[in-house]
Amino acid sequence: MKIAFLGTGIMGAAMARNIAQEGHEVVAWNRTREKAEGIDGVGVADSPAEAVAGADAIVTMLSDGAAVADVIRQAAEAIEPGAIWWQCSTVGIEATERLRAVADELGLVYVDAPVLGTKQPAEEGKLTVLASGPPEALDKLAPLFDAVAAKTVGLGEAGEATRAKLVLNNWVLAITTATAETIELARALGIDPQLFLDTIAGGPNDSAYAQMKGKMILEDRVGDASFPLKHAHKDARLVLDAAREHGADDGLASVIAERFARAEDAGLGDSDMAAIGKVSKASERRS
Ligand code: NAP
Repeated sequence: MKIAFLGTGIMGAAMARNIAQEGHEVVAWNRTREKAEGIDGVGVADSPAEAVAGADAIVTMLSDGAAVADVIRQAAEAIEPGAIWWQCSTVGIEATERLRAVADELGLVYVDAPVLGTKQPAEEGKLTVLASGPPEALDKLAPLFDAVAAKTVGLGEAGEATRAKLVLNNWVLAITTATAETIELARALGIDPQLFLDTIAGGPNDSAYAQMKGKMILEDRVGDASFPLKHAHKDARLVLDAAREHGADDGLASVIAERFARAEDAGLGDSDMAAIGKVSKASERRS
């Protein structure tokens, strides 16, 4: 297949490389061109339109719904009618509806298939794809899903995967916040935070995500983002909006969203989401 890959940030660069490694022809475009250069087996285009010309499938892996809408519009003139659009950026429910309408307008087959996992699983081709859209399009994209993921979860109509992604991100955001705050509590109580991680390890209270983010915090590596905090903040807002819109309890989601907003205000947007612990102290909140 000929694939146009729009957005080669932390996730996109690794995904594009893994797709090219499976023998597909991949042409990438990225707003900051240098980030699309030097990816093994991947060609670079100067514009979204140049990337999508002649492509059987277009992949968007951009920061948010506004960026995706803008970039797909820039590509519009060169799109092959009937091409499949794999939209895998995390954009939330409303933007997914809007992007679906844009796809109809441009003659694209819309596949809503966000991914679960972070930088390392992306590099190792071990993401989870949440796949929703027309069954024939999902079948055609299956080799691409296999190239980037250890697991594909098949869902129904486009839109369903985005709703599932919000459910799963609620969990990821809560675990990361709880891990960071528990480490802060251990420090405040004079308990070695490593003891917390070692004690849960391998038991019913353990979580691979808690271990991964906990290690990052204890080794003071949160400045090197696997999942930029600004995107986690965006996701926390998307979860909160969805909970409110659909009448679900938003008690925890609202606290998490508020904390991520404070962290971004504090200049931590480009750090990893695990930097959330840096603003978890009640004393800082009061000041
Ligand atoms: P990233 O490294 O920050 O990449 C964001 C990409 O979007 C970059 O290519 C950036 O271009 C581009 N972009 C932003 N605004 C744009 C605009 N207005 N016009 C054109 N391009 C624009 O982020 P990432 O971690 O790869 O995340 C990408 C998406 O995947 C996000 O929706 C995120 O929530 C989701 N996601 C991330 C993870 C994770 O752990 N990292 C996991 C699952 C899902 P520049 O390079 O020019 O800035």
